[in-house]
Amino acid sequence: MDGDTIRDQFVPNAIVATYYGNTDGGARTAQYGQTRIPSHIVGHVDRLKRKGEGEEAMQVVVIGGGFIGQLVQLAIPEARVLDWRKTPPADHLETRVGPQYLWEPIDGVPSSAFLVTTLVDGKEPTDESILRYKRKIGKESDGGDWGLQFQHEMLGWSSQLSKPRVEYDQLVRMVDLQGHALGMPTEVIRYDLLVSTIPLPALLGMLLTGPAYDINGFKSNPIYMADEDLQNETEGMILDYISDPLVPWYRHTYAGIKKFSESIHPQLGCRRIMPGKIHPYSDSESILAHLELDACFCFGRFATWRPDELAHQTWQQILKWKKAVGCD
Ligand SMILES: Cc1cc2nc3c(=O)[nH]c(=O)nc-3n(C[C@H](O)[C@H](O)[C@H](O)COP(=O)(O)OP(=O)(O)OC[C@H]3O[C@@H](n4cnc5c(N)ncnc54)[C@H](O)[C@@H]3O)c2cc1C
Repeated sequence: MDGDTIRDQFVPNAIVATYYGNTDGGARTAQYGQTRIPSHIVGHVDRLKRKGEGEEAMQVVVIGGGFIGQLVQLAIPEARVLDWRKTPPADHLETRVGPQYLWEPIDGVPSSAFLVTTLVDGKEPTDESILRYKRKIGKESDGGDWGLQFQHEMLGWSSQLSKPRVEYDQLVRMVDLQGHALGMPTEVIRYDLLVSTIPLPALLGMLLTGPAYDINGFKSNPIYMADEDLQNETEGMILDYISDPLVPWYRHTYAGIKKFSESIHPQLGCRRIMPGKIHPYSDSESILAHLELDACFCFGRFATWRPDELAHQTWQQILKWKKAVGCD
């Protein structure tokens, strides 16, 4: 298999030929533009690199050991990843709640592909049915590329990241951006570069000093998720969006022997996922730029507060950032 990409190794050719043309990640990742590395940070990093060569290595500290924190550690194995969970999850990949799939495999990691079928009201999506669905969940004016989100058939990926070295029971309470220090319950952790993967308003709430923001600008709806066992196994994954405003569920997903149902209205016996569906905040990009000036970088949909960001796009952002800060 010399010279084959991960894609070649794990996907039957017929599926690649039929569907892979639709999943050009370059076009999608381009919408988030360049990672901003302010000039004074580049100088700072050069100094850190020199430090790495002779003396003490640069300390990268990541807040949050979910999928995105694990991706940061995959890119920079020396990074310390702190998570406030008291106990490790049974399976580190289960931090991805409910039915999730990647639009692209993560390079260098064993990955497998499967067919993802997207429907609205049980049928192939149309512009009208997509708009009805978007109205139902209050996201009709949120922008984003609906054509991409509602591709009828595409390849989905699952990438088996290796077990990360997450430090659990590490509650970050305060962040001193100027002093490059994290206030933990019983100690102070110092860092050179800070990465946050926790929701942006949660990070802002922990800063001793930082950018101005309006907490009411961060709008979101919790997601209520139920799951049940199916009698027959589903091949691949089927996502069926429900546009009828009278039906509380907005999506049913069938994967393996499971059916997941999601609603933004409280439902009995459901798991409540926070922040859930997030809505754009006009100041979020300037807040992120401000944080980057202080060597604090945010990755992931919730940490950047970019409602449409997907994990494969975040991975591309992490790689660009790694190169830009000179961690190669
Ligand atoms: C229902 C749903 C479906 C989704 N489906 C997809 C999909 O199909 N494809 C896709 O690409 N993306 C999807 N996403 C978006 C996103 O890529 C995934 O949710 C991804 O798993 C998020 O991972 P994360 O690491 O950013 O966040 P999280 O998994 O929430 O990780 C954050 C971590 O930070 C820890 N933490 C929080 N506060 C602190 C603190 N103060 N101190 C220390 N630790 C702290 C938490 O314990 C947690 O482990 C979906 C999102 C949702 C909600």
